[in-house]
This record gives sequence, C-alpha cells and structure tokens, in this order.
Amino acid sequence: MAGEFDLIRDYFRDATVQRDDVALGIGDDCALLAVPAGKQLAVSMDTLVVGRHFVADVDPDSLGYKALAVNLSDLAAMGATPAWATLSVTLPDADAGWIKLFMAGFVELAKKHQLSLVGGDTTRGPLSITVQVHGFVEPAHSMRRNAARVGDLIYVSGQLGDAGLALLAQQGLYVKQGCLSSLKQRLDRPEPRVELGRVAAMHSHCAIDLSDGLGSDLGHICEESNVGALIHLDKLPMSDAVADYVAESGDWSLPLSAGDDYELCMTVPSEQQAAFEAVMQQQDVPVTWIGMIEQGEQVRAMSPNGDVDAYVARGYDHFAN
Ligand code: ADP
Ligand code: MG
Repeated sequence: MAGEFDLIRDYFRDATVQRDDVALGIGDDCALLAVPAGKQLAVSMDTLVVGRHFVADVDPDSLGYKALAVNLSDLAAMGATPAWATLSVTLPDADAGWIKLFMAGFVELAKKHQLSLVGGDTTRGPLSITVQVHGFVEPAHSMRRNAARVGDLIYVSGQLGDAGLALLAQQGLYVKQGCLSSLKQRLDRPEPRVELGRVAAMHSHCAIDLSDGLGSDLGHICEESNVGALIHLDKLPMSDAVADYVAESGDWSLPLSAGDDYELCMTVPSEQQAAFEAVMQQQDVPVTWIGMIEQGEQVRAMSPNGDVDAYVARGYDHFAN
C-alpha cells in the first residue's frame, strides 16, 4: 500500500499542465497564484459522495473526468476561463491503482482546458471527491442567474435528456440496442461547454448550467431574476434516441427534468440576438432557441398542441424528505 506522501508525489504533483501564473504549486503549505490584472476570480466547488452521486464500483477513470467536468461546467456557466483546481480525495484505503485511473480521467480533461492542479488534500474515510476550480472572468462579462430580463430570448446548447436516458438504460428501465454507448458517454464523461460559455458571455448576461434538469435550473434563473419563462417543448433539442423515447412514451420528463446533461441555458436580450446567434454558429455544438423570459415567477411549458402548463420543479434536493 502506498502512503499519503507517495500518492501525492506519484499522482498529484506534476499531474497536469505547467502555467506561468502558478508561482508555487503542489508541495508547500499553500499554492501561490497570480490572478491577471483586471480580471475577477471565479471559484466553484462540487463534491461527489459514494452512494449519493456514484456507486462504489464506479469506473474510476470516468469519475475523475466527471468530478472535474461538473466543476468546469460551473465556470462555463459564468463565462469564465479555467485556470487552476484543487482536489480533495477521501479514500477507504490508499489504493494506488484506483488513484492512477482516477487521475487519468481527471488529467485528460484538465489538459484539454490548460488547467493546473495546484493543491488538495488526501485523507482516509468513505470514498468522496471534492474539486474546487478557479477561473478568470471579465468583470463586465460574467453571466449571472439574476440578470435575466423580460423579453430575453432563451437558448440551450447541445441536446437535452441524453444523460437521463443513459441512466434509465443503466438501471434496466429502458432497453434499446444501438445508441446506448454514446448515451453512456454523455452520462459518464460530460463535455463542459467552456469555450461556448466564454463566447456567449460577450452577448448574454445570464446563464446556468443544466445539472438538475432544464425546468428546475431555468427555475433558478426565474427566482433570482424575478421573472417567468415560457419554453416551447417542440423546440427542445434532442438526440434521436431521446426524441424516440418522447414519441413512444409521450413523456417529456427526459428533456425537461432529467439532470446531468451539463449543457448551458442562456438568456439573451433581443438586441443581441443576431450577434449571439452568429457567434454560436461557430461553436461545435448547436445552440437552440427554446423560449422567452416573460413577466411572472414560474417556468411554463407549451406543448406541441398549444397547451401551456406551469412546470413543477422536481430538481434534486439533497435535504428533501
Ligand atoms: P499540509 O499538511 O500542509 O496540509 P499535505 O501534506 O496535506 O499538506 O499536502 C502536501 C501538499 O500536497 C500540499 O501542497 C497539498 O496541496 C498537496 N496535495 C495533497 N493532496 C492532494 C491532492 N489530492 N491533490 C492535489 N494536491 C494535493
Ligand atoms: Mg493537508
């Protein structure tokens, strides 16, 4: 069994990229970091706990990837550019093989974003992973949940419901051959929309990443901005697999309520529509108009037949009874 200091030396120190703004990285009591002049530091943290967010025999490589991805998705939703991360790993025992695989997934994604791991903590206990990410944002161009205005257009990136369908398949609740491996990829290794968020922030003041599902997450925007939203179900972007599921079941909960997609939902003032749509066309995932910010305080959804219903939030609450 490796010791704590062996693990740090072998798997955390020098694991990711070198950056000029890291004056001192892993190895001392603190990291010393230089924030570029004129930028704000965007900071976010997420914890993944065994039995709550993942199963004990989870593929460690995917877990390493996802633990960082969900954090980078938060930076993307602010329009921030990732720079650094810290990582707290709690393990039942010093399983170097597990850590090696976990870090392979973590580092794969970190390198894509020029992100440097600058510190962390390694302790013994029930398996739990905490990642904190740090990024830079232009003060005038951060996207905040409280900045939606009546009349803004609402857009989402990518396609909705893939991760939810993968989860149904994994639980044996949906059986269909073919597309399942690409769906599983969407659940296990979500692609944080970092570049898209950075570009969107030039034209949008308000965004959220979709971790709990569109209805619930857009509800957070409405609450923080004191507005309502009307979304058109027939505009929701879906993969063929999710569209088939909706057509067969008549159930819109996958694109509307399922979590874990880590796409971005952004609101755009109408005077920015043309410029926003032009730059979004350059992105490698589609960005789709799905509705409007309106007066009110709730999310409403219009069915293809024209019926409008209030969306009842079913986002995940860890402390709900
Ligand atoms: P201290 O006892 O001063 O808190 P530690 O022994 O916990 O220091 O950690 C030594 C160094 O290794 C520190 O720079 C710390 O940030 C880093 N480190 C420890 N665990 C991790 C980890 N899981 N990921 C990245 N860096 C880590
Ligand atoms: Mg410590």
